[in-house]
Amino acid sequence: MNKCQVLIVEDDPPIRNLIATTLKTHDYKYLLAKNGEEAILQASTYSPDVVFLDLGLPDIDGVEIIKKIREWSNMPIIIISARSEDEDKIEALDSGADDYLTKPFSVEELLARLRVMQRRISLLQSDDEMGEKSVYTNGKLRIEYAAGCAYNGDEELKLTPIEYKLLCLLAQNTGKVLTHKYITQKIWGSVWDSNVASLRVFMATLRKKLEDENVSYIQTHIGIGYRMLKV
Ligand code: CA
Repeated sequence: MNKCQVLIVEDDPPIRNLIATTLKTHDYKYLLAKNGEEAILQASTYSPDVVFLDLGLPDIDGVEIIKKIREWSNMPIIIISARSEDEDKIEALDSGADDYLTKPFSVEELLARLRVMQRRISLLQSDDEMGEKSVYTNGKLRIEYAAGCAYNGDEELKLTPIEYKLLCLLAQNTGKVLTHKYITQKIWGSVWDSNVASLRVFMATLRKKLEDENVSYIQTHIGIGYRMLKV
């Protein structure tokens, strides 16, 4: 039996059943909630390892549920949204959700998202054991925080201060989608449209220095933001 326990929050019975059956087939334990009230109750009672949260629920808005859970827990939350809820999806990520699935989704995609969260959980646990990590590694990428340097293998990356800040922010949130708004707020302290345009430019130069045809660390989510992948 998989140790990971997943809370499924979805008011649509066929989708709820699809997710439950998929998880059961792959030996995950799961809890079910068909509305927001049940979701908050289950989350606070059982502290699941991961939450799949439908944004469109009959009683409480999904974004409100995220805010509530974030008052007391960092449990990974993966949003399940319909395409028409794109705006809400961005708001949900900014409110502290970790990732999203867009309906209709495949079960393979669902399982892949779940595995990413499980890796994050184990990374977080090992971080706790080792205290604050001063070196980040991901494939050939290495960041030495104390020195303020990043390396690709043995070669030091010549990054501008903004590029370095961007890289650290993405690295510290590996596996997690960061929205344009979240990133610009962290990097520049404000969310002007011009910053979002600058962000695209800095991201392009950063990727050019970091990536080549064999390796891609940063994934673009068009209209939403960026994610550092664990390679
Ligand atoms: Ca729904």
